[in-house]
Amino acid sequence: MEQSNKKREKAAYLQKYRLDNKDKIAARKREYYIEHKDTFCSRSNKYRADHREELKSKAKSYYAEHKEECRNQKREWNATHKKEIHEYYVHRKEVILKRNKEFFSKNKDRVNVKRRERYSKNKTKYVAYYHSRRTRKSGGGGGFTAEEFNVLLGKYNHKCLCCGSKDAVLVADHIVPVKLGGSSNIDNIQPLCKSCNSRKRDRYIDYRHGQ
Ligand SMILES: [Zn+2]
Repeated sequence: MEQSNKKREKAAYLQKYRLDNKDKIAARKREYYIEHKDTFCSRSNKYRADHREELKSKAKSYYAEHKEECRNQKREWNATHKKEIHEYYVHRKEVILKRNKEFFSKNKDRVNVKRRERYSKNKTKYVAYYHSRRTRKSGGGGGFTAEEFNVLLGKYNHKCLCCGSKDAVLVADHIVPVKLGGSSNIDNIQPLCKSCNSRKRDRYIDYRHGQ
């Protein structure tokens, strides 16, 4: 009886000690970890290597069950760690590019199908991205959003401003051409069909006035 009382006393004492010295204990643990980092790392590396398939399938099934949660978490993390992500990318650029290349050549067909799917779902978004990237490189700057381009298409009844064609695929033409320093802001954009756009080439022609 006395023994168990003592045990209880000791446990209570330890618990109180741990509570009272929380920071001290954490600091000591951290110190210990830093001192023995290599051991810890190699131990966990070995564990990971030994249980690779198991961990992989566990992570996979966890992801499948918590898809939305994981995605949101990742999105949030990405949004708040832009600088770190960029630094990491710059630091490991060659490795990443090489890995991407290898992945692409191994999964060419699959990647292409996915790309096409994504492109046809978000066509105007890609068009907008492409143009703002182009004028960022040329120094013209600016950029329009998919919504802005859609509004512009609606304003001109989805017609080519040059030939008036309604059935053709309309592209975003720079009124002041990119080569002449034109920006990608929406006020420098007019919808033209592909053939009118390529016929216009790098000339400054504003077809909006005829509308
Ligand atoms: Zn046209």
